[in-house]
Amino acid sequence: MTSQTTVKTLLILGASGDLTGRLLLPGLARLVAKGRAAGLRLVGAGSDPWTPEQWRERVGTSFAASAGSAGPDGVRALEDLEKETVYHQLDVTADGALASLLATLEGPTAVYFALPPRISQLACEALRPEQVPPGTRLVMEKPFGSSEESARSLNRTLVRLVPEDHIHRVDHFLGKATVLNILGLRFANNFLEPVWNRQHVEKVEIIFDEDLALEGRARYYDGAGALRDMIQSHLLQIMALMAMEPPSTISERDLRDAVSTVLRASSVGAPYAASTRRARYTSGTVAGKEVPDYAKEDGVDASRGTETLAQIQVGIDNWRWKGVPFILRSGKAMGAKRKEAVVTFRPVPHLPQGFTGVDAPNQLRIGFGPDTLQLDVDVNGPGEILSLSRLTLEAELSASELLPYGEVLEGVLAGDPLLSVRGDTAEDCWRIVEPVLKAWQQGTVPLEEYDAGSSGPAEWSGTARAE
Ligand code: NDP
Repeated sequence: MTSQTTVKTLLILGASGDLTGRLLLPGLARLVAKGRAAGLRLVGAGSDPWTPEQWRERVGTSFAASAGSAGPDGVRALEDLEKETVYHQLDVTADGALASLLATLEGPTAVYFALPPRISQLACEALRPEQVPPGTRLVMEKPFGSSEESARSLNRTLVRLVPEDHIHRVDHFLGKATVLNILGLRFANNFLEPVWNRQHVEKVEIIFDEDLALEGRARYYDGAGALRDMIQSHLLQIMALMAMEPPSTISERDLRDAVSTVLRASSVGAPYAASTRRARYTSGTVAGKEVPDYAKEDGVDASRGTETLAQIQVGIDNWRWKGVPFILRSGKAMGAKRKEAVVTFRPVPHLPQGFTGVDAPNQLRIGFGPDTLQLDVDVNGPGEILSLSRLTLEAELSASELLPYGEVLEGVLAGDPLLSVRGDTAEDCWRIVEPVLKAWQQGTVPLEEYDAGSSGPAEWSGTARAE
């Protein structure tokens, strides 16, 4: 099946960059190969004096993997896009440079700012509203600002240029399939909704532990850390999907309103030494590979005290969730990869006397990428009928045939901001973490240590599975 896009031209600024080569172009390739970007033109731009061949070679290399597994139509579509793509050298921050390029492109155009955040901001500030053709979409990468105030200021710059629903603040972490899987599970099952609240849920944990260490990304990561890199930008969005009220439709308006409402009610309470934790890995072994001490990695300034593992406890002040801890955690160089949301239910009010064995709280776990569902229940036996034992019901949820950036691009090209972070939400996510960042900077919360390859500092609790 082929589908035309609303957007006619995809302009990637930052053509020579890492994001473009490693994630954007491969994501686009799969989309094109599946016939889901028919009629699209691709234009690359950057400050390097590249020849058209150099750019086409880059596109060809990134498309290669998808071409290998595509059918004849897919291969032809990829070849056509590669043949026709053009490259422009420009300094996007120079007065009139980006505007002149936009004027030559067949619109509507989606402008993908695959640039360092500061350069993206300068490029937008250099544009005047009358220089932006109608229908233009602006695609902004993370981090979106560096504080609530800077995010607000960037929002003001962007809405001067295009309407809010033409601004795509990218969150590639949750693909569309995952978002819909969470919504389907929550809102298409009547047995869940009556227990999805403070009366029945003890805590909700959202965990992204990766086994990757710094992998040469000190220039970016040492200035960011786990709280900004993962929790501020991604895990709060997952929390919102887990906690939001049922929307009337899955349109971008209803869904993004529901996300916004729950985040507005969310905060991290003081004292931060109790509600947050931070740690940095020391040397160790991950999957048989030696990992050096983070503080000794090239490009790391150890005196910055950047955390590689962060945990915050968020409270949601509303009728449904008041008092239920939402624990958000993300770490690097961990012993095991874990990407899941875990809902732990309260114990039964009374277990009839006579039962023996384990009566552990029920847990519902939603794993992300691949999306899975696990429900831990207590059942009788086997063997002794009165002896309770734990059983896990498992299922695989629907998977996407696109890569995460393919899903992002599909939304952009179709003019659907469903997966994009709305402006007010982007500001709120900074508002939630800012007091924590400040407390950490002031040294109120100790920077702990853990061995690379471990599961974090020994005494961290609250993120274990119920046994
Ligand atoms: P890179 O530093 O690898 O690439 C930045 C690109 O911007 C280069 O192509 C550079 O071209 C270009 N550039 C810089 N200044 C100008 C200018 N004045 N005019 C035109 N082009 C310019 O960065 P990344 O690709 O890693 O990141 C890009 C964005 O994506 C950032 O916002 C980042 O936070 C975000 N991101 C990146 C991820 C990743 O894995 N890389 C993941 C998620 C988000 P030149 O070299 O010629 O100057």
